[in-house]
Amino acid sequence: MTAGTGTGMTEAFAELRAAFPAERLVEDAERLAEYGKDESDLGVFPPGLVVKVDSAEEVRAVFAIASRHRVPVVPIAARTGKSGGSLAIHGGIGVSVERMNRILEIRPGDLTARLQPAVITGVFQAEVEKHGLFYPPDPNSLDTCSIGGNVAENAGGPRALRYGVTREYVLGLEVVIPTGEILRVGRQTIKGVAGYDLTALFVGSEGTLGIVTEVTVKLLPRPRHVATALVCFPDLATAARAVSRVLAEGVIPRCLELIDDVSVQAIAKGSPFQLPPGAGAALLFETDGNDEEQVFAEMARVAEMVQGSASGEVIVAQNEAQRRDIWETRKYLSVALKKLAAAKLSEDVAVPRSRIPEMVARSREIGKSHGLLVATYGHAGDGNLHCNVLFDGERQREAAEAAVADILRAAVDMGGTITGEHGVGLAKRDFLEYEQGPAVLGLERRIKATFDPLGILNPGKMFPES
Ligand SMILES: Cc1cc2nc3c(=O)[nH]c(=O)nc-3n(C[C@H](O)[C@H](O)[C@H](O)COP(=O)(O)OP(=O)(O)OC[C@H]3O[C@@H](n4cnc5c(N)ncnc54)[C@H](O)[C@@H]3O)c2cc1C
Repeated sequence: MTAGTGTGMTEAFAELRAAFPAERLVEDAERLAEYGKDESDLGVFPPGLVVKVDSAEEVRAVFAIASRHRVPVVPIAARTGKSGGSLAIHGGIGVSVERMNRILEIRPGDLTARLQPAVITGVFQAEVEKHGLFYPPDPNSLDTCSIGGNVAENAGGPRALRYGVTREYVLGLEVVIPTGEILRVGRQTIKGVAGYDLTALFVGSEGTLGIVTEVTVKLLPRPRHVATALVCFPDLATAARAVSRVLAEGVIPRCLELIDDVSVQAIAKGSPFQLPPGAGAALLFETDGNDEEQVFAEMARVAEMVQGSASGEVIVAQNEAQRRDIWETRKYLSVALKKLAAAKLSEDVAVPRSRIPEMVARSREIGKSHGLLVATYGHAGDGNLHCNVLFDGERQREAAEAAVADILRAAVDMGGTITGEHGVGLAKRDFLEYEQGPAVLGLERRIKATFDPLGILNPGKMFPES
């Protein structure tokens, strides 16, 4: 990694002032601090200056200046990231794509769309739905996160269980790499196998290989009917076993979300949907399709499989308002948990589906061994669990970090991964080698050096710093 010297930064910033209008630069400390935060709870790391770019050519101009002075460049989108990917840990230039927020075209005949990176995911989904189309990736942050950030993190969401994650929908990208090349990778067609799949490489590269300035995505016809239901269980282990049972029967609902007993307590503190009293854990599931009868038949099948071990009736959302309240409650669980403890570290491990009950139990035991409570919820249907280590502020931070390390290692030991969707970023860079081994890590570093020979793009992310 090459970080700019103080003089290098000063000179680079002077060149940026000459190249960009003043209203597109952010330099005051308070606003820079805003750009130096995300949702990872890792702290505030402001860039020295932020440039709000309008085009690929402008990103190229920033890279030229940064390369001349060996100054770090950090891509910044909506800052909802949970692994610290957009934090400027070495200062330097923040490249904010926020002005590039237009949907360029929706092509219903081709089932594709082209859009700029700062389009808010939920806004894009609503727009394509007006055409009877469907963009499935639905991170729970969809009201605030951007498509560019989703591409960088290969974001998933509850619907990934049936529909897959962002990578499955990205056909092509315009991306600027630190050497200054503006590349169009991938394609506009649904099929196509020419050359290496560089699109797939950029998706999930966490802003370490290039800055995405345009995205072409694949769309689906919108399913006409959706049914949402919630079922409570006496305890977490029973709920986790119910997840495994449903999947083992070969039923793949559109979503299958797990909520543990600690999360149930957080929900009780003022969430829009209240669970029945005595609930020890819950599963939220959804089915969809074009035939209403079939959608409800599938829902009934799932209900039948889980009801034997449930602590009450299956609650089926009766209208759109109830459905929205259930999802709002699930979406903001991460925030709701903050009402139970002064601080939390939130992990997003994924394990093979058959190991879900074991992982849930193991993370709880790990918490206990460090004297801490762990809340687990998440997209359990695809094995992706958010294990939240709750702690009492700085006094317990060391214990919380040790618990997180044990949870990450436990997931890998079960054949899983340290991150199912949030990315490695700053938060998990020291654990990547544990999962992938030195040979793979070495190859990844060499790939990074091909795109970014000076090491100026998002330094200190994904790879452990030497
Ligand atoms: C309440 C809540 C719920 C969440 N739920 C989910 C969930 O269900 N699933 C999920 O996957 N995530 C979830 N997240 C995490 C987060 O929303 C996603 O990681 C999202 O994709 C980040 O998008 P962003 O626009 O905020 O990007 P940022 O946080 O600004 O940036 C994220 C990373 O992308 C890089 N980047 C941003 N833009 C570009 C670009 N144009 N080119 C290259 N690199 C770029 C940045 O450098 C950084 O490394 C959740 C977050 C919150 C707060």
